[in-house]
Amino acid sequence: MCSTTASSGCRWDGTPARPRHRPRALRVAADSPSQLLRAAQPSRCRDCGNRIDWYTRTTQHPISLHPHEVTAAAFPAPCRWHVSSGIAHPAHDGTPWCRIPHTTLCPAHPNNEPVTPQLAELRRHLALCTRRMLDTGAFTPQPADPAPTQPAAMCRPARPVVQLLYCRYLAQHPVEDIRCVAQTRLRHRCAHPVLTPDTPAGTWTLMSATPSHGQLALPASEMAVYNLNQLPYAEQLRWRAQRCPLHAAAPHVADLALAEWEVFDPLLHHSHMYPRLPTAIRHRGRHM
Ligand SMILES: [Zn+2]
Ligand SMILES: [Zn+2]
Repeated sequence: MCSTTASSGCRWDGTPARPRHRPRALRVAADSPSQLLRAAQPSRCRDCGNRIDWYTRTTQHPISLHPHEVTAAAFPAPCRWHVSSGIAHPAHDGTPWCRIPHTTLCPAHPNNEPVTPQLAELRRHLALCTRRMLDTGAFTPQPADPAPTQPAAMCRPARPVVQLLYCRYLAQHPVEDIRCVAQTRLRHRCAHPVLTPDTPAGTWTLMSATPSHGQLALPASEMAVYNLNQLPYAEQLRWRAQRCPLHAAAPHVADLALAEWEVFDPLLHHSHMYPRLPTAIRHRGRHM
């Protein structure tokens, strides 16, 4: 007779203690254009702390949707989205249910448009969740975007403009804080940075802020860009994929988050253009 201890390898009734089927890890198909493991990326709104799901959509930028489906009839048609094959579409698919963008609900950004009672009720519920998280210390609102006029922000751009593969991107974090998106063996997101001491770094360069093909006259003629163009092609691909050197060498490993690059637009992202090099500011003794 088997004992009940786990070391015996079987349970009190004689069945194996280990599950008959080992949990199967999700894998990325060999022909997948993306290494992303999930279509929806669970996250939290940086303004209100509530749960959101990031989805890719047919346009360039991902969108954050409220994580639950809602009754379509209770929400105005322009708010209705649906998800098909992991892609979010800005239209109703005819079912009784729909998804809605978190920005419509976010209690940190109350808009003045007339809303349905159900929309107001859901926003009120999220506002209460935010209040609860603030009271318990579970959530600390982040400053929207550090003011670019602050010396500290100028010394180390909170959202640097990075040039790689001959394109300019606006990063979501300072260069040193850009984190690998790959999944570790423990199924967490890798904590390693993309910029490591063992790999070639980019150089801060002053570059023309005006698009070469446009005729727009922008106030700042030059801006600081973290230039990776001189790095080997493979290294630039690694930065674009937002992977640490370890995971860049393991292409079969899945990603747990989307790479966070946003295509830089000098008109939209004007507040992130810095006319001086961070190092030049440091030499003048203004860094804090
Ligand atoms: Zn929010
Ligand atoms: Zn990694």
